[in-house]
Amino acid sequence: LFIAFEGGDGAGKSTQAAAVQAALESLGRTVLRTREPGGTPVGEKLRALVLEHGHGEIDARTEALIFAASRAAHVQQVIVPALERGEIVLCDRFIDSSVAYQGAGRGLGIDAVRDLNLWATGEVLPDLTVLLDVDPEQGRDRRAANGEEDRLESEPDDFHGRIRAAFQELAAARPDHYLVLDGRQERSALTKAIVARIAGMLG
Ligand code: C5P
Repeated sequence: LFIAFEGGDGAGKSTQAAAVQAALESLGRTVLRTREPGGTPVGEKLRALVLEHGHGEIDARTEALIFAASRAAHVQQVIVPALERGEIVLCDRFIDSSVAYQGAGRGLGIDAVRDLNLWATGEVLPDLTVLLDVDPEQGRDRRAANGEEDRLESEPDDFHGRIRAAFQELAAARPDHYLVLDGRQERSALTKAIVARIAGMLG
């Protein structure tokens, strides 16, 4: 079972992925939690490259290709092997992040970025995507409170607004494959809702 966690910066994806992992493991399941960009040695280097060089230095197409390259390695080396072993894969960000950030945010186009990534992954898609929806301003406050660096902090509000809208549109287009949650809910309530949905899929 392949589960992706999506949402804007500071939505709580990493926190929820970790909490859901713990809950599923306590039910006796084997879980692999991983993240993008990153997830493999090459992928972590590509992540560092993007985070090191701001948008002034990396143009949008280059950025989209780096994220797609990181994802290609991740899918082949980590995600598919774990799925073949029968594990539950929890992935912090996946294709939707590229579609939202580079396609909608940077203006490369939703379809172009989706096609690029479907090619990169060989069309491996999550069984379920958990979308943690938060207001961009709230996400920024949350990241700041956690002392997390934010490479997109200086981006205008409409950039983050476009990203949020793109995530929502992707979910609305394939509702059966999404669990959309209000990221302002209690942490434990979110975890409970996500675990319940996944447990239902495990049968
Ligand atoms: O969510 P995470 O902290 O792993 O993301 C690292 C940074 O890369 C964040 O600032 C995020 O907004 C950005 N990012 C991006 N395009 C993506 C994925 C992440 O600009 N496709």
